[in-house]
Amino acid sequence: MTKHDVVIIGAGGVGCAVARELSRYNLNIIVLEKECDAAGGISGRNSAVVHAGFNNAPGSLMAKLCVEGNRGFEALCRELDIPYKKTGKLLVAFDETDMNALQEIMQQGIRNGCEGLRLVDADEMEKLAPGIGGIGGMYSPETAVFDPFLYCIALAENALENGVTFHFNSEVVAIEHDMIEEHGEEHSDDRFVVKTAEGGAYACRFLINCAGLSSGNISEMAGGPAYQIYPCRGEYFILDKVAEELLPMPVYPAPRKGIGGLGVHLTPTTAGNIIIGPSAEYISQIDDLSTTRPVMDELFAKAKALMPALERKYIIGSYAGIRPKLAPPEEGGYRDFIIQEEADCPGLINLIGIESPGLTASVPIARMVRGIIGERMPLEEKKDFVAKRKGPIRFRDLSEEEQAELIREDSEFGEIICRCQKVTKREIRNAIENPFGARSISAIKYRAWATTGRCNGGYCLTRIVDMLVNEYGVKPEEITYRSTGSELFSGKVK
Ligand SMILES: Cc1cc2nc3c(=O)[nH]c(=O)nc-3n(C[C@H](O)[C@H](O)[C@H](O)COP(=O)(O)OP(=O)(O)OC[C@H]3O[C@@H](n4cnc5c(N)ncnc54)[C@H](O)[C@@H]3O)c2cc1C
Repeated sequence: MTKHDVVIIGAGGVGCAVARELSRYNLNIIVLEKECDAAGGISGRNSAVVHAGFNNAPGSLMAKLCVEGNRGFEALCRELDIPYKKTGKLLVAFDETDMNALQEIMQQGIRNGCEGLRLVDADEMEKLAPGIGGIGGMYSPETAVFDPFLYCIALAENALENGVTFHFNSEVVAIEHDMIEEHGEEHSDDRFVVKTAEGGAYACRFLINCAGLSSGNISEMAGGPAYQIYPCRGEYFILDKVAEELLPMPVYPAPRKGIGGLGVHLTPTTAGNIIIGPSAEYISQIDDLSTTRPVMDELFAKAKALMPALERKYIIGSYAGIRPKLAPPEEGGYRDFIIQEEADCPGLINLIGIESPGLTASVPIARMVRGIIGERMPLEEKKDFVAKRKGPIRFRDLSEEEQAELIREDSEFGEIICRCQKVTKREIRNAIENPFGARSISAIKYRAWATTGRCNGGYCLTRIVDMLVNEYGVKPEEITYRSTGSELFSGKVK
């Protein structure tokens, strides 16, 4: 058994932000994650929008932390070299009811402290986002888009550099208590012993539950309240990069009360694709990530109303994310985040119901967690905390001169492995050599952006497999798409 000040369960955006925030202090911290890499949960399955904060009820944690998160996001992305683009965002009205809803949401946003919100007429809308349908809209200049995979990876890598230990493929299956009495005679600093399916045991004083969809179960396992999480699936289409010029900013419909999300929207990604979605459908399983024909047809129809120029030929893929909702289906809408140390279970810090805008709010959430711990024990700042991180080289984004220079230095920059996204062999190798040793195809995909183009890896996947086989001595049958159980090959074919 190893001993720690803090065990964090979950390496999504929230767990990684908490890890990085706490790595500023002299604490012994370990992150336990059941998947093989960061961003394996909801944090890798969302709209990737840095929300401004007008969607959430004034006075709620969601509103406060989202506005705070939005204000610091750009600087954080610069510090950790994460792709980020301040695009602004347009909410579109199709009738007078929608226009009234936009008036209301704008007033709500102003109360929340959002800056620069304004109503726009159809002419200005045409200038902001040409070809978008509707009679008017609301413009939010502070909304942005970012890369959610590299966001989690960057936070995790920076936390690692600052001394945090990460154990991937480590599913927490039991949490036992050390017998202590807070005000009694006996006292131990190790309140919890966290056990994983792989046989690990980790004693800790603070247990931080960032387990997303499983956070209710983890709380119960640790002796805290049994929160009920209602999974609510959102399905998406991914459009090819050729659609890039069609959409300069996220375009959302005017909000409708009671639905589980923000309505089907169109969002440009930092890589130049467009995503359409999400739907909002309460489901019974926390891991049912299917995309379904009826929902996909509905998505396309709704997106086409927003953007009449949309064509099916642009579609290259689909995915789904699942919201960990505290609001049951009969209630709909949003309940506020729960972020607290449980009074009946000292040391257990629960983060429950962290649905949208959880990524935008993740750093302020992490600061709240640090505040809770800081009230319980003195936190000593590290003198050698490294705030900056350098992200991977993006060959395709460089000038011809810079590209030529790189090829002169390393001939692997001269060999394109992913033709759709122009990813070079050296970039793939850099991704394979990541500090966590994550060698799944998804780990390489999210770091180098290979396999994400129109051919969906048809050209580059086998070449990446060859690199893993030849250079790292792994057998093809051992190569997984994500975690164990997603092996790509069951045997040899000619
Ligand atoms: C459809 C959709 C759209 C969204 N759009 C946006 C948006 O545009 N902007 C925004 O800011 N937010 C958005 N969100 C919300 C955002 O994605 C989440 O709030 C955020 O990702 C939550 O992060 P997390 O770390 O709490 O959860 P997760 O990323 O799910 O991380 C939890 C981690 O815990 C791990 N785990 C679970 N159980 C165990 C266990 N027993 N042992 C070890 N590890 C375990 C999981 O594998 C997972 O990696 C959206 C969410 C959805 C579903």
